[in-house]
Amino acid sequence: MRLSRCFLPVLKESPSDAQIVSHKLMLRAGLVRQTAAGIYAWLPIGWRVLQKIEQIVREEQDRAGAIEMLMPTLQSADLWRQSGRYDAYGPEMLRLKDRHDREMLYGPTNEEMITDIFKEGAKSYRDLPRTLYHIQWKFRDEVRPRFGVMRGREFLMKDAYSFDLDEAGARLSYYKQLLAYLRTFQRMGIRAVPMKAASGPIGGDLSHEFIVLAPTGESEVFYDAAFEEFDWAQASLAYDDAKGLEALFNQVSSTYSATDETHDPARWSEVAADRQRQGRGIEVGHIFYFGTKYSASMGLKVSGPDGAMVTPEMGSYGVGVSRLVGAIIEASHDDNGIVWPEAVAPWKVGLVTMRGDDEASIAAAEDIYDRLTLAGVEVLYDDRDERGGVKLGSMDLIGLPWQLIIGPRGLAQGLVELKNRATGEKQELSIDSALDRLT
Ligand code: ATP
Ligand code: MG
Ligand code: MG
Ligand code: MG
Repeated sequence: MRLSRCFLPVLKESPSDAQIVSHKLMLRAGLVRQTAAGIYAWLPIGWRVLQKIEQIVREEQDRAGAIEMLMPTLQSADLWRQSGRYDAYGPEMLRLKDRHDREMLYGPTNEEMITDIFKEGAKSYRDLPRTLYHIQWKFRDEVRPRFGVMRGREFLMKDAYSFDLDEAGARLSYYKQLLAYLRTFQRMGIRAVPMKAASGPIGGDLSHEFIVLAPTGESEVFYDAAFEEFDWAQASLAYDDAKGLEALFNQVSSTYSATDETHDPARWSEVAADRQRQGRGIEVGHIFYFGTKYSASMGLKVSGPDGAMVTPEMGSYGVGVSRLVGAIIEASHDDNGIVWPEAVAPWKVGLVTMRGDDEASIAAAEDIYDRLTLAGVEVLYDDRDERGGVKLGSMDLIGLPWQLIIGPRGLAQGLVELKNRATGEKQELSIDSALDRLT
C-alpha cells in the first residue's frame, strides 16, 4: 500500500475526549472514527487489524472442530420470549419495530437464535456433538459506552455454541474451546489468563473469562505466576485427546486465578507470596457451560441411541474481536505509539524514504516495494513528499513491526536501515540482506 493513496488520517494532537491510551492511539493513528456514541467506523488501518484478529479467531475455531456460519444482526422478539429473556434482558437490548409493527431487536448475543436453528435441523443423536460459530456484529446499549472500541455499543464478537448429548460431552466441548482460546490469544502475541468467572445471567456452573492485563482494565484480577511461565497453549495436544484436554482443564482450574467477583481470599493465601500476581485486566473472552437452559425452554430435543428423546446440553463461547484491537494496544505500546505484535499488524513493514525528493532514494524504494510485495510481504510505503522526521514519527505511531529506512548517504554505499519497532534496535544492512530478513 502506498501511503499517498491510502486513507490514513493521522492526528498530531492527542484527542481530548479519549481517556485511555489505546483509545487515544486508535484515534491518533487513524484506526477508527466515532460516528455516534459507542459506534465506530473502521478506517483502513483499523479494518486491516480487525480482519487479522478475526482470521486468527476463525482458524483456531476451525482447528478445534467448530463450524462457521452466519446469523443476522436483527432478531425477532418472539424468539426471546420463548427463553424468557426478552423481558429479563433490560435496557441493554436495542428494541425496534418494523413497518408491520413487529417487535424486533438488534442481537446482543445469539443463544436463542442458534437453539431455534439447531432445533429445525438436528433430529437425532447422530447430529451431535456440534459446535457452531459466527463472527458478527452485536449491539448492547451500554449505559456508559467508553474507552473507544473496548466498550462500544456496536461491536464485533465471535460467538460459538456447543450441543452435546450429555454433560460429559458438553464438558469436553468446553475443554476444546478452552484450549482454542489459549491458542488464539497466544497467536495474537498477548497473554490472556483464564479466570474462574461467575456465570451471570446466562446461568450454569462452569465458566471462565479470559483477561488481558492492563492498568486501565475494568476488573481487578488475582493469579498465580504459573500463568506467565507455563506454555498453556500446548502445541502438541490434539483436540481428539479427551484425557489430555481434561488434564489441561484440571491444571487451569487448580492454578489460582480469579476476578474480583470470584476472588477467594482463603485460597489466595495458599499461593506463595512471591507467586501472587495482582492487577487490573480487560475481559477479551468468556466461555460458559449452561446445561439445558435454552434447549429446555425452547423445546430442543433429539432422539437418543435408544429412541428416547434427549434434551441437549449446551455451552456458549464469546471472543470480543473488536475489543481485542484496543486490548492489544493497551498491552503493547510505548510513548511513541502502538507496537503491533507481528501476527495482527496491519502491515509487516513500513518503508520510508528520508528524502522524498531524492531520485536515487525513490528508485531504491520502488524496487524494494516491488520485491517485498512480490514475496508476499505486506508493506506500507510512505511515498509522501514529507520531511523524513515526520514520516518516522507516523511510522512509530502506527506501530508496524519493522521500518525500512532509506537515506541518501547510506544508499550511496548500498546500505539501508532496518529498525525493529518493539526493541528500537537499528541495523545498517545491504538491501539484499535487509530483504532477506523480511521475507
Ligand atoms: P463486560 O463484562 O465487559 O460488559 P460481558 O461479560 O457483558 O462483557 P459477554 O456477554 O461475556 O460480555 O460477551 C463476550 C465478549 O464480548 C466479552 O468477553 C467481551 O470481550 C466482548 N464484549 C462484551 N461487551 C462488549 C462491548 N460493549 N464492547 C466491546 N466488546 C464487548
Ligand atoms: Mg456487559
Ligand atoms: Mg463480563
Ligand atoms: Mg462476560
